[in-house]
Amino acid sequence: MSSARSLYLHLPFCSVKCHYCDFVVRVLSKPEQIDRYLEHLELELAALAAHCSELETVYLGGGTPSLLSIVQIKRLGRMLHQHFRLEQVQEWTLEVNPETAETDSLKAWRQIGVNRVSLGVQSFDAALLTSCGRPHGVAEISQAVKTLKQVGLENFSLDLIYGLPEQSLESWKQSLLAAIALAPRHVSLYALEVHEKTHFGHQQLNLPGDELAADMYDLACEALGQAGFVHYEIANWGLPGYHSRHNTVYWQNSPFAAAGVGAHGYLMSQDGPVRYAHPDSLATYYRQSLQSIWPWEQTEAQTQSEQIEETVFLGLRLLEQGIDLDAFEARFGRSLLSYYPRVLPRLLELGQLIKIEQRLRLSPDAVMLSNEIFAEFLDPEL
Ligand code: SF4
Repeated sequence: MSSARSLYLHLPFCSVKCHYCDFVVRVLSKPEQIDRYLEHLELELAALAAHCSELETVYLGGGTPSLLSIVQIKRLGRMLHQHFRLEQVQEWTLEVNPETAETDSLKAWRQIGVNRVSLGVQSFDAALLTSCGRPHGVAEISQAVKTLKQVGLENFSLDLIYGLPEQSLESWKQSLLAAIALAPRHVSLYALEVHEKTHFGHQQLNLPGDELAADMYDLACEALGQAGFVHYEIANWGLPGYHSRHNTVYWQNSPFAAAGVGAHGYLMSQDGPVRYAHPDSLATYYRQSLQSIWPWEQTEAQTQSEQIEETVFLGLRLLEQGIDLDAFEARFGRSLLSYYPRVLPRLLELGQLIKIEQRLRLSPDAVMLSNEIFAEFLDPEL
């Protein structure tokens, strides 16, 4: 395996399970569960360091990583600093839930190197927060932002969800305006997906239809654009210079390491790139870590077709950068046009894709059709 410069760490514990949540999460019943998890995570990090010793981005996701106690934060910091070279880290993001944003903890996170926060707020509508089973109210969101600013973590992103049960366009508009008023540097918007194994998956929900969900997305594009945010990725907006560097590694289909239960990574092996996934079960993760069974050692290399498809799907999500056609050719030894001799000219002709100099992008009018457009790239013969 060759070096990746980005590391994702999954910290799976939450105080409750939100009604829509489909992530690999365990409800925390006692703090010692986190200590045990850190023990196993350290075994993995020690082994993983051979494949990504020097990092440029770190992302601590979950779960609710901000549930860690100060002692646990320091321990995790020691582990990371011991096993990796972090002098070149440009962006180190921590996912925070509003109710856990405490001054001393945030200071401790800053001390170990965190310089960016992704705050999961989801909505500013109190009734919707309750119906989603979120463990915080609206007042805690503003308080969390105040605390972030007080400790010097002004570089924060807000996550919002649209398409929630009973959500109106007016409620969504108010959430967007409330988010903008808190002066985040970045905003991520997620369309609700109802997964079978979640609380929502077992209920009769009154969901906004596709048309209303599309209106919500359009409204967000307009409001965030007016507030100076650059719509740089289908679901992400940043003030100039504040795109997510870590997530851009994913969208550029570049390698990244991932550690922890349920985490997915992408590394380069001698035989080519490999995607790997950790088990979702904590018991299996613990057993495998004690036996030094690492998922990145049990994978098959991806075919070139798989790599090309992923590079196209992910690259077209980047609305500003798009796909760098020269970089594509250098990476795959052939041009994108030679791989898609029919699809590409057709979509350019329809105006759904735009080629400017050596970059291929989705046309702004085609963003809502992105899934249909991506599907066209599944078969190079079409
Ligand atoms: S806080 Fe986030 S990760 Fe935890 S249950 Fe809720 S949505 Fe899932």
